[in-house]
Amino acid sequence: MQSLRQLPPDTITAISTPPGRGGIGIVRLSGPESRAIAEPFLRLGSVLSAGRARFGEVLDSTTGEPLDEAVVTFFAGPHSATGEDVVEIAAHGSPVLLGQILRQCMAGGARLAQPGEFTQRAFLNGRIDLTQAEAIHDLIQASTLHQARVAAQQMGGGLSRVVAPIKSGLVALIAKLEAGIDFAEDDLETSPAEEIVREIEALCVPLASLERSFAYGRLVREGFRLAIVGRPNAGKSSLFNKLVERERAIVTPAAGTTRDLITERIALEGIPLELVDTAGLREAMDEAESLGIAKSHEAMAEADLVLVVVDAAQPAREETASLLHRLEGRAVLVVENKCDLLETASRAGSDEDAPAGIRTSARTGDGIPELRRAILRKVSGQAPAGEAAVVTNLRQQQAIGTALASLRQGRGAAEAQVPHEMVLIDLYETLRALDSLTGATSTEDILRLIFSTFCIGK
Ligand code: GDP
Repeated sequence: MQSLRQLPPDTITAISTPPGRGGIGIVRLSGPESRAIAEPFLRLGSVLSAGRARFGEVLDSTTGEPLDEAVVTFFAGPHSATGEDVVEIAAHGSPVLLGQILRQCMAGGARLAQPGEFTQRAFLNGRIDLTQAEAIHDLIQASTLHQARVAAQQMGGGLSRVVAPIKSGLVALIAKLEAGIDFAEDDLETSPAEEIVREIEALCVPLASLERSFAYGRLVREGFRLAIVGRPNAGKSSLFNKLVERERAIVTPAAGTTRDLITERIALEGIPLELVDTAGLREAMDEAESLGIAKSHEAMAEADLVLVVVDAAQPAREETASLLHRLEGRAVLVVENKCDLLETASRAGSDEDAPAGIRTSARTGDGIPELRRAILRKVSGQAPAGEAAVVTNLRQQQAIGTALASLRQGRGAAEAQVPHEMVLIDLYETLRALDSLTGATSTEDILRLIFSTFCIGK
């Protein structure tokens, strides 16, 4: 990172809108020469000024003829997205036109930007930290509104805001211990072991809840896997079709038709769900069915939520009870399907021992909205309370995991009353991990704290 910072800041350019034709297309420049490169081929109503959009014409650099009309915006560094001078030329979204503007920028001395380089500059110039840079990527990649919301929260610095006080608490503790060591001859009172343990403990709590949020963050990013299981003919495929809102799986009155896993992605209130329809669970009649059933068990094992479908018109079965027993501790919803038959069949099938579930009819559509709501409740029940920050990717999770592990090790060391130098090794390891999360370095912070809050009078 350090070497990147020392590169001379050249001016980069790229087409920032997606490839193809569109109403508007934007060519962006970032770097000290942005203005000087763009201005020669622009004829604007008035001169560019920071934070203002100007309407005008884009000219062909060689002939001086107008190429297009454009809105040109100038952002002066350091108060721009990248922290440098930025010029954005919004012309019409024609690939040939945008290509020509790009070439003119390059002829003027700009270099074609590498993928992600604008965001990288924003990071290197301290406009955003690493978690925010990752969030920009997530936001662009989001395929549901909920994913976009979580990414936007992180882009706004949600995760960094939670990490910042943990880090400053840690830095303060390190400074305190360092001062105790470095200036021992000055009779600075060193903290008693219990106090250190208490302070470390206080730092562990928010880190541990961040670590827990990863399970939810992963689900938001990758989607919840929901397996639909149950006996053949309970109506699994029919329910699957209802939930995906199209006839995706084959429905037949003959039992044992679904043999392969059928998977479909849907969004429920913006939360991505991967629905898996499975082969009915029973004694297999042939090899294909038996393979299908094995796959059902795999799908069940991998699912974040299991929908156990039972036929409400049939008496409760021992197998359902044992299936539910096996799924104990997992997120499960029992669905009593074919409830339309109950009304007519004088409820003969409804059984005292039947597992209480959500009543649906895949035939009439009754209970489907309730089922969706119940799925949503189960799924969002795993969300951290309130506006809590969510750890969304593996890199962040590993950084937090390492931070927490070394912090706990430090607590163990403090409890064992080993010399502070040993505790400090673990605390520095924690700090390194937190630094890697946001991409910051804390050495200066520590020095500043050591020399400011501990007025030694030297
Ligand atoms: P699967 O084997 O569990 O996937 O069950 P299917 O979805 O293939 O359905 C088996 C049979 O039950 C088909 O003939 C469906 O039309 C019928 N079925 C499914 N859901 C309902 C329902 O809610 N009510 C009624 N009356 N029949 C249903």
